[in-house]
Amino acid sequence: MPHGARQDAGVSSPLRLEFVTSATRHADLPATDAEVALVGRSNVGKSSLLNALANRHQLAHTSKTPGRTRLLNCYRLDGATLVDCPGYGYAKASKADRAAWGTMIERYLLERDGLRMVLVLVDGEIGPTALDESMLAWLRHHGVPFTIVATKHDKVRSAKREKRKRELAAGCGVERRDVVWVSAVSGVNLDHLRTLVRDWLAP
Ligand code: GDP
Repeated sequence: MPHGARQDAGVSSPLRLEFVTSATRHADLPATDAEVALVGRSNVGKSSLLNALANRHQLAHTSKTPGRTRLLNCYRLDGATLVDCPGYGYAKASKADRAAWGTMIERYLLERDGLRMVLVLVDGEIGPTALDESMLAWLRHHGVPFTIVATKHDKVRSAKREKRKRELAAGCGVERRDVVWVSAVSGVNLDHLRTLVRDWLAP
């Protein structure tokens, strides 16, 4: 492989995500045996990552389409499911709206049967925000399994990446090796993340 080529190129095929439904309550989602959820503050790169994992352009709306970005969006993935939760901390939302989405996400995360792993997206360029930290504290408190996925790997210069990853992991209270740092733009580590998702969802 030529130096600089993506190490993981071609190892894993795109996730075959098919949109099923959007819901305001987890009770309205289809029953599932195995599910992975994505959470993260708004603008962290969640829609871009979903599109990149699926190798599709418009699967998740990267534009801020009102409506779907405020709902639990459920996708089928082979025999299992993936749920994209609304981004938290949306700047234009009213306090009441934020509280309502918070309750919706919390109830989903606590009560959803079949939920195996929560991917917590953290901006790899700026590290965990106060909102990310409170989400992580909440997940720990309730014993909900999670994995940190850092985004925007391409935005940090290579000379600074080691330090940034160390700081990000420390800020999230996890080991460096437990952070998956991806880029929807360069594609780095997408195959690794796809493999993890498939493993979590395996029967
Ligand atoms: P969401 O609100 O979490 O769904 O975030 P989006 O996917 O809409 O992304 C927010 C902004 O970050 C957009 O301007 C994206 O183009 C940008 N972005 C997302 N992922 C990446 C990435 O991996 N690299 C770079 N350079 N920009 C990204």
